[in-house]
Amino acid sequence: MTGGRRLVQRAWVVAAFLAVAFLPVVASALRPPTRERCAGDGVVLVGGPTVRITDATPSSHAFCSVRCAERWVAAHSVAGQRAPGRHVLLKDDRTGAEIGLADAWFVWSRVGSPPGDGVRAFLRREDADAHVATFGGTLLEGARRPFPLTESP
Ligand SMILES: [Zn+2]
Repeated sequence: MTGGRRLVQRAWVVAAFLAVAFLPVVASALRPPTRERCAGDGVVLVGGPTVRITDATPSSHAFCSVRCAERWVAAHSVAGQRAPGRHVLLKDDRTGAEIGLADAWFVWSRVGSPPGDGVRAFLRREDADAHVATFGGTLLEGARRPFPLTESP
């Protein structure tokens, strides 16, 4: 065997080793991105979360529905007390933009409701009223508003 052939053989061995070593990297790059799941029930959040809650922990918690987020809040709260640093962000049903809890108008309706419940959030009162006028339902005001005592003042 000549020195040149030995060199070629070694190059193939190194190439094969590198191919095997980088296989996991290539495989993970080809895999579709991990889909975000609801922190309440584990449902895959197709189209993004309906509710996002931030608190004292570094990561936020995403939810499929208002009711799912409310159940999570109840399970992660001291009764009658606001959790430090907790904030609720909701998806505006008309635009998909994220809005703050204080700015949200809530409507309960059966038509085309998000999975798990029929509570929708709107940034504009006109959009909430238009949804009720078109699809039926109820504007949730006062004590009927979701997430009482959820956010820090
Ligand atoms: Zn959920």
